[in-house]
Amino acid sequence: MSIKLDRYRIIDLTMELHPGILKVNGEYIHGSELRRFELRQFIYKPDGTLMNWIEAESHVGTHVEMPAHYFEDGKSSSEMPLEAFIGEAVVLKLAHLKPKGGKGQPIKPVHLSKVREGDIVLMWSPYKGDEMPYISSEAARWLAGKRIKMLGVQNVGVEESYELMATHDSMLRNGIPIIENLTNLDKISEERVFYIGLPLKVFGLDSSWIRAIALEPKEG
Ligand SMILES: [Zn+2]
Repeated sequence: MSIKLDRYRIIDLTMELHPGILKVNGEYIHGSELRRFELRQFIYKPDGTLMNWIEAESHVGTHVEMPAHYFEDGKSSSEMPLEAFIGEAVVLKLAHLKPKGGKGQPIKPVHLSKVREGDIVLMWSPYKGDEMPYISSEAARWLAGKRIKMLGVQNVGVEESYELMATHDSMLRNGIPIIENLTNLDKISEERVFYIGLPLKVFGLDSSWIRAIALEPKEG
């Protein structure tokens, strides 16, 4: 077997985390959206090496949410099959969904024509905050019906309404993880790439930090 890594461009889709109180989506919007991520260094007495205590929410930086995030008895990080987090991804760049009057526009099934069954669907927009397009409830149900493998977003609102929670419901109840706070999706030039973003193998964990990457074949 021969797998030549130099035939691929590796694109890092992961936000860099710095210890402290973090902002969601790179911006301070509401106080309740601040996320805790603290590292405290200590010296490990037996051999004098340096280690860290970590105190953090499971939803910091680039993370993947699993069914355990949404309902009791939902599968947690270590219970999901690895195949769920690896595979062919379609990259949907939604710059054409321009905000109107400062408000982001809904993503509808009509915008999802490139999606195939079994795809990891990665959505990107250049807009921030209230101007981001968002996944309509209709599109969320459509994606679940299409039996996609996973949904990932950068600058795209996951929910039309946080009372309805249609996206969490359509995805997580059907065993489809959601990746939040991806970055660098705009650096991908192909429409389809190979995606890898594995969660930590922790029993009971509802969401895990990941190192998400895309592999894109180099020209020639
Ligand atoms: Zn989250």
